[in-house]
Amino acid sequence: MSSAAIPIPNDFNKDLYTTLAEADPEVQALVDRETFRQFRGLELIASENLTSLAVMEANGSMFTNKYSEGLPGARYYGGNEVVDELEVLCQKRALQAFHLEDKTWGVNVQPYSGSTANFATFTALIQPQDRIMGLGLADGGHLTHGAYTPKKKISASSIYFQSLPYQVDPATGLIDYDALEKNALLFKPRILICGASAYPRDWDYKRLRKIADINGSYLMMDMAHISGLVAAQVQNDPFEYCDVVCTTTHKTLRGPRAGLIFFRKDKESDIEKRINDAVFPACQGGPHNNTIAGIAVALKQAATPAFKEYAVQIIKNTQTIAAELMKHDYKLCTSGSENHLVLWDLRPLGLTGSKIEKICDLAEITLNKNSVPGDKSAVVPGGVRVGTNALTSRSMKEPEMVKVADFLHRAVQISLQAQEEAGSKLLKDFVSTVTGSGASAQALKQLKQEVEDFATQFPLPGVPDSSKIKRTH
Ligand SMILES: *Cc1c(COP(=O)(O)O)cnc(C)c1O
Repeated sequence: MSSAAIPIPNDFNKDLYTTLAEADPEVQALVDRETFRQFRGLELIASENLTSLAVMEANGSMFTNKYSEGLPGARYYGGNEVVDELEVLCQKRALQAFHLEDKTWGVNVQPYSGSTANFATFTALIQPQDRIMGLGLADGGHLTHGAYTPKKKISASSIYFQSLPYQVDPATGLIDYDALEKNALLFKPRILICGASAYPRDWDYKRLRKIADINGSYLMMDMAHISGLVAAQVQNDPFEYCDVVCTTTHKTLRGPRAGLIFFRKDKESDIEKRINDAVFPACQGGPHNNTIAGIAVALKQAATPAFKEYAVQIIKNTQTIAAELMKHDYKLCTSGSENHLVLWDLRPLGLTGSKIEKICDLAEITLNKNSVPGDKSAVVPGGVRVGTNALTSRSMKEPEMVKVADFLHRAVQISLQAQEEAGSKLLKDFVSTVTGSGASAQALKQLKQEVEDFATQFPLPGVPDSSKIKRTH
């Protein structure tokens, strides 16, 4: 190769070589604003995390250019010798990160996301209109586990399959395994699904396996939220009892946005082929190789002692927030947490999840309204979900969680004050009060400033030097 610079050969391709800042200042400005938003605020959304610089570099790499339909060694396109190595490496690391032997478990690393991983799993295991059973949406389950309302089948998982939810006991917030067992006996699901998006407790896989066996069901775990905790072995091990384990890679696992499907190879000889065929060609086209590169990096990181420490700290942080909130006599579903999130029932305070989500947004604290067990209406969720995975990625520990819990406490107290000032329970009156000029609005401004002063003391993962983050407003 010559060492002389290679000139850009023609004018119409000049755009292919300019940086984002030069090529598109408008999008660059949005990237800068989003970076600052993440830096100056407290990210408490339980399904989010802050991925590493290395993952982002892999995710933005030249692998984005390549088509590779099929599997390593069996592709529909040429030029895949490097992609093949990448995908095999990613598979190997996926098994290692979850402490699995390749004799008993296999993995497909191509799902674009958690939802597609789940749908591909259904496609692989059962026929259209077969029955599935998962935790109800209002009880903390995920949309893709069969969600429906009286008038509408909401998810493809209820459009193409028959579903019946199981529930938590509204008094304790814990999964009612006895009722689940009884209903499963009647409904006879082909797949029994466990896993959730808003459940603060661990899973009884042994009991679930027993129920699945009674009814000849597959047992599928969707560990999307807790996969980082499972990899770090600070939660029960779903692989001990399940036939298939799906996950997203961007929640506690802290990778790029994608999904994985693990399948047991020793039980049914053709399950591997059925899963692989369901991902491609049944449900997807070409894999996103740039994302697979990012997953491989994240899985390498998830197998380190440092990641184990991270996972241990997530749980300590959640439990600190839970303890602090309970000191103020706030009601938490299940009275605590043993994972990365707390589910905060606001109904005893006469507040809705929407109001707290809104006021927190105005104070640069990001969390989400969430239904809590026993909610009368899914349209007015009675609680919020608070996760510690992202803050733990910003190197915050117990003392910081005490501070964060205090911010949350203040947000709730300001809300109560605002509701009184507004003299109405309507969300729009609430918003105009807290964005107005009264006492609650002043208190909120003060809170927002303190949140920002606090958050900007902690580095933002993915950014080489947080002191260089541009203040955008
Ligand atoms: C987040 C989540 C999913 C969906 O993942 P996407 O990547 O958003 O499609 C599926 N299942 C559970 C339990 C989840 O929490």
